[in-house]
Amino acid sequence: MDFEKLVEVYEELEKTSSGNALREILSGFFKKVPAEDIAVISYLTLGQISSDYDSSVLGLAEKSVLKGIAKAGGISEKEVKLIMDKKGDVGLTAEQVLHKKPRTLVPVGKLTVNELFEKLNKIAVTSGSGSQDQKTNILVSLFQKSSPIGAKYIARMVLGTLRMGVGDMTVIDSLTIAFTGDKKGKEEVEKAYNICPDVGIIAETLAKHGLKGINKIDIHVGRPIKMMLAQRLKSLDELPKKIGEKWAVEGKYDGERLQAHKDKNGKITLFSRKLDDITSQFPDLVRYLEKQIKAKEFVVEAEVIAIDDQGKHQPFQVLMQRKRKHDIEEYVKKIPVQAKMFDVLYYNGKSYLHESYEKRYEILHKIVSKSKNVTLSDRIITDDLSKLNDFFKQMLHEKYEGVMIKDLNGEYQAGTRGWNWIKWKKEYVKDLSDTFDLVVIGAFHGRGKRAGVYGALLCASYNPKNDQFETVCKLGTGLTDEALAELPNRLEKYKVNKKPSRVVISKEMIPDVWFEPKVVVEVLAAEITKSPYHTCANGLALRFPRFIRYREKKPEQATTSKEIEEMA
Ligand code: AMP
Repeated sequence: MDFEKLVEVYEELEKTSSGNALREILSGFFKKVPAEDIAVISYLTLGQISSDYDSSVLGLAEKSVLKGIAKAGGISEKEVKLIMDKKGDVGLTAEQVLHKKPRTLVPVGKLTVNELFEKLNKIAVTSGSGSQDQKTNILVSLFQKSSPIGAKYIARMVLGTLRMGVGDMTVIDSLTIAFTGDKKGKEEVEKAYNICPDVGIIAETLAKHGLKGINKIDIHVGRPIKMMLAQRLKSLDELPKKIGEKWAVEGKYDGERLQAHKDKNGKITLFSRKLDDITSQFPDLVRYLEKQIKAKEFVVEAEVIAIDDQGKHQPFQVLMQRKRKHDIEEYVKKIPVQAKMFDVLYYNGKSYLHESYEKRYEILHKIVSKSKNVTLSDRIITDDLSKLNDFFKQMLHEKYEGVMIKDLNGEYQAGTRGWNWIKWKKEYVKDLSDTFDLVVIGAFHGRGKRAGVYGALLCASYNPKNDQFETVCKLGTGLTDEALAELPNRLEKYKVNKKPSRVVISKEMIPDVWFEPKVVVEVLAAEITKSPYHTCANGLALRFPRFIRYREKKPEQATTSKEIEEMA
C-alpha cells in the first residue's frame, strides 16, 4: 500500500479528539487494507516498528533527524535549526522545509508502507562506528520519497513522538470492528491481546481467520503475556463474598514483577511488568533460574527483591540501583537479589493458563529447587480470617508490603484485575490512607520557591470501559528535590500542545502544559471526596495527595476510576 494513503488517514486522526470518532476512522480504513499489510500498518499507527515488547529502538538523536531534514531539503542545518526553534516540533519542521524543496530531476518513485517499515527497521539495527550517519542517510531517502506531510509523520515516528492520541486499545477495537463487522467480539479479542500483546499478530489473525483464529491464540514461549493484576478490598470482612471458598495467602513483596521464559534451546528471557526485556539487568537471576528450575521449557512468575548478605529483604529503593546499563556485574555483587516464585504459566510443552492456581503451584513446587536466591513465596492455605490476619502481621513484621490472597481454584487472568487475586496492604489498615497509581496528564507552572519548575502535576485514573483517562487530583506535595530533578527526564518527551484525545477533563482543571498519558506515579491520599472539577467516576477527587514514587507501569495499568468509586 502507498504510504500517502496512510498519511491521509493520519491527517484525519490528528484533527479528531473523540475516542469514538478515532475508532470510526480507523476501522473504516482497516477494512480497505490488504491482509498482508495490516500488521505493518497497525504497528506504524502506534508509532512502533515491531511488537511492543520487542526492544528494538531506532536510536536516532533529534540532531541527526534535523540533519536529515536539512540534507533532504537542500538547505543548511543552521536554517533548519531556526525553523525548529520556531515550530518546536520536528514533524512540522520537516513539513515546512520539504515543502520548499526543489523537485528532483530524476523521479524517485513512491514510498510504500512496507518499504518505510523495512527502512525503519534497518535504521534500528544499524550500529557501530559511523552508524548515526548511515541512519541519517536512510532517513534522507525516506524523506525524498515522501510528500512534505508524509515527512512530518516519518520525522515523528523516528523520534517516537507520533502523537495522534491512538492507544493500543483504540487499534484493537478498530481491528475488531473492521474484521468482525461489529464490537461484539471485543472481549475475545482483548483476551487474546492480553495473552499475545503483539498488535501485528492480532491484526493479521483477525484479517485472515477472524474470531476463530483469535480464540486459538495461546501462550508462546519467548513472547511475554500481560501480567495478571490484583483487586483491592475496603475491609477484610468482604473477602468471603468476593473470592472462592479456599484461599492461599502469600506475602506481598515490594520489588519488581518478573516473567521468566525458557525456550527449547535453553535461552532464558526476563520480562518486566511493562513487558520490557530486562534480561541484561539480571545476569545473576538467569544463572540461578538455569540451575534451579528443573524444566526444559517454562514460563514462570516471581517478585524480585534485593537482599543483604544474610538474605534479609532490602527496601525497593535498594533494588532500583540494579536498574542500570553499566557496571552490571559490579552491582550483581553489591546488591544480591532473590526471586520469590509464585506462578507457572507454561511447563514442558503445555500451557497452564487455564488450570487452577492450586495445580499451577503444585508444579511450581515440583520444579523449583530452593536456595537463597530463588525460593517460593511464603504462604499459608486457609479459609479463616483470623489466621489470615496473623499471617498478614507476620509479613509486615518481615517488612513486606502485606499479603496477596489467591483463589485456589482461580485461573490465570492475563492482563486482568480480577477477583482471583486480592491484595491486602499495610496502608489499608492504617487510617483511611491508601495508595493509587495515577497517570500524569498535565502540569501547572510553579510560583514562589517553585518558579521555573512545575508546581503541581495533574493526575488521572484510568477508565478501561471507554479507554479514557479521568482527572482525580493535583499533586504538589511530596515531590522531593530528587523527584523534581527527574521530572524533565521523565516527562518532557511526552509534552504535547493540546489535550490528548483520551483525556477527559473539566474546563476548571485545564493545565498549563499537557502530557501524553504515559508516566505513572504512586500517590498516597487520605480521603476520597466528591468534586465538581474532577472527572474520575463523574466527580471524585483525592484529598491531600502526596507523591510517593514513579512507577514502572503502563498507563493502562493505573488505578481505575471504578476502583476509586468502589473505595469511596
Ligand atoms: P499493585 O502493584 O499494588 O497492584 O500489586 C500487584 C503487584 O504486587 C504485582 O504486580 C507484583 O509485582 C507484586 N507482588 C508482590 N508479591 C506478590 C505475590 N506473592 N503474588 C503476586 N504479585 C505479587
